[in-house]
Amino acid sequence: MKKEFVVIGLGRFGGSIVHELIRLGADVMAIDAHSERVDEYAKIATQAAVADTTDEEVIKSLGIRNFEHVIVAIGENIQASILTTLILKELGVPNVTVKAQNDYHAKVLGRIGADQIIHPERDMGIRIANNLMSSNVLDYLELSDEHSIMEIKANDRIAGYSIKDLDIRANYGINIVGIKRDDSIIISPTADEKILLGDILLVIGAVVDINRFVKKAM
Ligand code: ADP
Repeated sequence: MKKEFVVIGLGRFGGSIVHELIRLGADVMAIDAHSERVDEYAKIATQAAVADTTDEEVIKSLGIRNFEHVIVAIGENIQASILTTLILKELGVPNVTVKAQNDYHAKVLGRIGADQIIHPERDMGIRIANNLMSSNVLDYLELSDEHSIMEIKANDRIAGYSIKDLDIRANYGINIVGIKRDDSIIISPTADEKILLGDILLVIGAVVDINRFVKKAM
């Protein structure tokens, strides 16, 4: 079965989600209140509609309640974003992902039942800042305000040592949960696993502790 999504709001963010979902082989219904935006996506999306999604009857008539996953990518208009999300959750859409403009917006979205709240600009800023600070940090997944999983490239200062030798759990309070090596991945490596040059370590822990490790060991 093909995965199906509805994307509401076809600005830069929603538009790039539509492009990428289609590229990955999903079916996408693309919706925006402005016809020029919709015209732009009608060529690539599976279905496209001009609609104001703050109107419950409009959402019902488009059959959006039958979709498993809806992405609300309405930008500036916070009121429209909140109202749209509220209607989607009231109609029982199981997964509603919403782009938040700021922390207040995010808080309200959480209260009305948004399943996933994303802060693309903020998250991208954090990611880029981390990449700038260390060329060894390849990627970054925020788990909470304080915790994350980071992909760290092993350099010659730690290569050749085992996880036990480095004792990073005791020294930094963080854990190596996986090691990417060539095309394979070692999940939950044992303490005896020797780190090789070029390994990518998947490290989980508090951001401050991981950064301490990266600064000290790298
Ligand atoms: P971005 O920062 O991703 O470029 P924009 O604010 O430019 O975001 O885009 C958001 C889109 O959401 C706009 O194309 C706008 O027309 C659309 N939009 C705003 N309100 C509604 C609504 N009530 N129903 C449907 N689409 C809406």
